[in-house]
Amino acid sequence: MPKPKFRKRQTRNKPVWQTGIAKERIRILFIEAEARFDERPDLSDRYVEIARKIGMKYNVSIPLLFRRRFCKKCKKYLRAGKNSKVRLNSKEKCVNVFCLECGTVMRIGYSKK
Ligand SMILES: [Zn+2]
Repeated sequence: MPKPKFRKRQTRNKPVWQTGIAKERIRILFIEAEARFDERPDLSDRYVEIARKIGMKYNVSIPLLFRRRFCKKCKKYLRAGKNSKVRLNSKEKCVNVFCLECGTVMRIGYSKK
């Protein structure tokens, strides 16, 4: 008796045209969040939330440039000097980003090359 043929398991990856649109939407949302931050900071937070959800749904990672613009804990949009402060820590060789909304410190490492 021949073995039953199993259908090839569907890949989880979304088609390229969908991930392409997802990336574009994330980019637009972060640009909008930056532009609206002065008048409506609550909208900026909402845009970050939507961008993160799009990223999760389409398995798209948020670009590094944008990932540092929101708090990893409270997910609020951060702007240096407004609701976050950025300090260099030469001892630990990292950039400390303090979220003034919830008090989290995000450490971004750097090293001389
Ligand atoms: Zn925070």
